[in-house]
Amino acid sequence: MTGPAFQRCEDCRAAVHPRRVLCPVCGSRRLADERSAGRGVVYSTTTVHARDGRYNVALVDLDEGFRIMSEVVGVAPDDVRIGMDVRARADGERIVFDAV
Ligand SMILES: [Zn+2]
Repeated sequence: MTGPAFQRCEDCRAAVHPRRVLCPVCGSRRLADERSAGRGVVYSTTTVHARDGRYNVALVDLDEGFRIMSEVVGVAPDDVRIGMDVRARADGERIVFDAV
């Protein structure tokens, strides 16, 4: 299992996502590439009603300390809940989350 890529500040240890040149917390340029283990919790969720159906859009807080926008799949969009434990997986070029 590999989760989304992010940067870790080598000075203050902040997790940085999306990519930056400078750490937004301490201003350091020493940002190292890391990859999340893929474990996270739903921070917010909404259901998008599109022409071709409904799908979920969620903000997920990864255990490493950053937040990304993605989709929780495998459950009905309206059944995704704030605080739900989720796990990342690759879906083609993008990363989606399964409820666990
Ligand atoms: Zn920093």
